[in-house]
Amino acid sequence: MKRIIVFLGAPGAGKGTAAAAVAPKVGARHVSTGAMLRDAVARGTPAGLEAKSYMDAGGLVPDAVLYRMVSELLAGEKDGATLFFDGFPRNEAQAAELESLAAAGGAKVESAILLDVSRETLLARLGGRRVCPKCGAGYHVQSLPPKKDGICDACGAQLTIRADDQPATIAHRLEVYESATAPVIGFYEKAGTLRRIDASGSASEVAALVQAAV
Ligand code: AMP
Repeated sequence: MKRIIVFLGAPGAGKGTAAAAVAPKVGARHVSTGAMLRDAVARGTPAGLEAKSYMDAGGLVPDAVLYRMVSELLAGEKDGATLFFDGFPRNEAQAAELESLAAAGGAKVESAILLDVSRETLLARLGGRRVCPKCGAGYHVQSLPPKKDGICDACGAQLTIRADDQPATIAHRLEVYESATAPVIGFYEKAGTLRRIDASGSASEVAALVQAAV
């Protein structure tokens, strides 16, 4: 059986940062559907071409694109693998569909970890976020700066600001989170598998809390 642990929380809550930090410590794989989609856009694949306009606007990419990606991913994983899902599911339909995709792919959704932070903190985190376009590593100008200004520690590429981290797009992504994604919390609450984590601390504090919960 493959294990899936879902990371929930608003854009800027630190899902990607925590999942990337904890995954290697517990032998898990960090799966970011956002990073997979950004890669598909960069490579100009059919999925990328379909996803680009939705992503640029800060909206959600059609569910069918995600379902194909996730089922292929699960099929390619070995039995016994642990997967940290960062960014999927993002609405109630995806949460329900994930149960079927998991069953078909020999996997089980074990728990959902909710990273809880105030709106103020989210805005501060999103505004200072930087990303490596080459290897996907994430940074923050204040809380998680690279060793050399503007340069990726891991691969040396020039860091960029994500296209969807512009102020107007950020506001829209937070609205999409409230209306479409926040209800997913209730889905896992009902299932009895939700764990809430106070994610207002530093990246290493949040990683320690997440590691204790997985
Ligand atoms: P993220 O890196 O998780 O913030 O995702 C970046 C963008 O990718 C989102 O704003 C969406 O446009 C798209 N995306 C990522 N995951 C999903 C998903 N599960 N459903 C729909 N769109 C998604």
